[in-house]
Amino acid sequence: MPEIKTLYTQEQIHTRIQEMSQEIARKLPQEFMVIGLLRGSFIFAADLVRALYAEHCKIQMDFMTLSSYGDALESSGQVVIQRDISESVAGRDVVLIDDILESGRTLRTAIDILKDRGAKTVTVAVLLEKPGKLQTKVSADICGFKTPDVFVIGYGLDYKNYYRELPFIGVLCE
Ligand code: 5GP
Ligand code: MG
Repeated sequence: MPEIKTLYTQEQIHTRIQEMSQEIARKLPQEFMVIGLLRGSFIFAADLVRALYAEHCKIQMDFMTLSSYGDALESSGQVVIQRDISESVAGRDVVLIDDILESGRTLRTAIDILKDRGAKTVTVAVLLEKPGKLQTKVSADICGFKTPDVFVIGYGLDYKNYYRELPFIGVLCE
């Protein structure tokens, strides 16, 4: 196993997610739909919706898989739907969840799809954001942590589909 340097501990993530759920509960009506972008956001989404339960939110949930990265560390630029949501978003308040906002292409594509389908509002919540990397006009309404410009793994985020199960967020040390 290569060495992994911890960037955000399990406790730091837990505390921040509770704060984010309070922020979401303040911003949105009591009932809304949560859409997680797979695969990276699955652990964040699971923890966030349980924190939203504690804030008395009434939610429905769905997932969408968009891909742009493949096995490469740099975005290929092209974002395609690999698995679509099965619920209708027309007229709904939607909280769109992703693991990390980097170039912004993934979230831009997802927001455009949901708006095209008639979502009433789309509120974007990301766990991480890499400042200064945006390639398109998009911003997160709610962000967990601003990360340094390093390739992070864990807590859903992968390298070649490994390391998603780490309960913390870290950086691979060569
Ligand atoms: P964007 O479309 O904003 O450039 O990239 C967003 C997606 O790229 C994220 O959902 C994530 O899957 C992947 N990504 C971007 N930066 C990182 C990173 O540092 N580590 C990992 N594991 N994935 C990343
Ligand atoms: Mg992703």
